[in-house]
Amino acid sequence: MKNDYDCIIIGAGPTGLMLGCLLAIKGLNFIILEKRAGVSKHSRSIGIHPPSISLFQKIGLEEKLLNFGNRITTGHAYVENKFVGEISFSELNHPYPFILTVSQSITESLLETHLLSLKADCLVRNFDISGIKRLTNGFSVSINDNKKITGKYLIGCDGKNSFVREFANISFVGKPYSDTYIMGDFEDNLGNRSIAEVHLGSNGLIESFPHGKNKRRWVIKTHTLHENPEPELLVDMTRKRIGKAPDVSTNSMMSSFGVERYLAEKMYEDGVFLAGDAAHIISPIGGQGMNLGWLDSADLVNVLAAPTEQNVQNYNNKRRSKAREAANRAFFNMYMGRSGWKTPVLNIGVGLMLKTPLQKKLIKMFTMDGLQ
Ligand SMILES: Cc1cc2nc3c(=O)[nH]c(=O)nc-3n(C[C@H](O)[C@H](O)[C@H](O)COP(=O)(O)OP(=O)(O)OC[C@H]3O[C@@H](n4cnc5c(N)ncnc54)[C@H](O)[C@@H]3O)c2cc1C
Repeated sequence: MKNDYDCIIIGAGPTGLMLGCLLAIKGLNFIILEKRAGVSKHSRSIGIHPPSISLFQKIGLEEKLLNFGNRITTGHAYVENKFVGEISFSELNHPYPFILTVSQSITESLLETHLLSLKADCLVRNFDISGIKRLTNGFSVSINDNKKITGKYLIGCDGKNSFVREFANISFVGKPYSDTYIMGDFEDNLGNRSIAEVHLGSNGLIESFPHGKNKRRWVIKTHTLHENPEPELLVDMTRKRIGKAPDVSTNSMMSSFGVERYLAEKMYEDGVFLAGDAAHIISPIGGQGMNLGWLDSADLVNVLAAPTEQNVQNYNNKRRSKAREAANRAFFNMYMGRSGWKTPVLNIGVGLMLKTPLQKKLIKMFTMDGLQ
């Protein structure tokens, strides 16, 4: 490990790993410091949107990723269990007109292996920051056995509770919402692997997405947060609301989550950059968070290669504005999925969105078009 880098990146989640690949291709001198011993084993994020697949193509990893993923080309919408229409992503003017679904653990493993093939020794895992100091022309980070690493720029890809954001004294402005969900992965018993289903109704949202080779993720709006939910709860609620459900014995992951919206007041401050969840948290409904971090990385790499004041300002303004837009789109998805809607209102609203030119907007929104 050398101790003088252009960039010290804290965090090797999806954002830090993608940023590393892009920096390695540009030939920049960087190191990534990650406190976890290995990639997270949980399936977490699954949706990879067209602008992100283009990024995987840029780093030379899209073929492998496409092999592991499942392609969702169509979304079916139901109101109170009645089919009301569909949207097809094949209408997108994009080389990858689909949402690829892959478990986050696989995506992170692919990124890490690829990163190390581009630049060996650029990732240090299992370390503990004992302090960060500002120097005249950069930063010094102390790790584990009091070793010091110095670098010109410090980049926080360290997620929601970012240590780097706190170090730079950047406020994180936002709020939690009252919406709560349970989520589970099961073997797919619905069949068509290219179709995602969205069910709206007076009891709230149910979504199901095929992912990986044979799984389907179910997400269900709940009235309260269920700590440690059992798969039986999801199966029971789903069957009652929409008359079909996954096979409980095939469950491989269960969790519950609440929803928040936060945005860093700045994504740059005096040599410190933020990207990904360290800079913004949006509702997972719509599956954009991980993708937004990758799109930050794509812009950040160009700034780090040419760090003029103008480029830095553009990064800050553009990525905060894209994060706001993504958060608004996520809020719309969440709002439509709330309980208490009257069926005729949903029928008219959803019908209008699917059967008029508004459909183009919807396709754009569901595929993160315009957020790159
Ligand atoms: C239920 C749920 C479903 C979701 N589904 C989707 C989806 O389908 N699509 C999508 O795009 N997004 C989704 N998201 C959001 C997505 O998971 C996050 O936006 C994404 O993981 C953020 O990546 P990141 O690399 O910025 O941060 P993180 O994934 O949080 O990674 C941060 C990394 O930094 C490390 N770290 C933290 N502090 C330190 C420190 N002090 N020193 C060293 N290392 C440190 C952590 O160990 C971690 O590895 C979902 C989120 C939830 C909650």
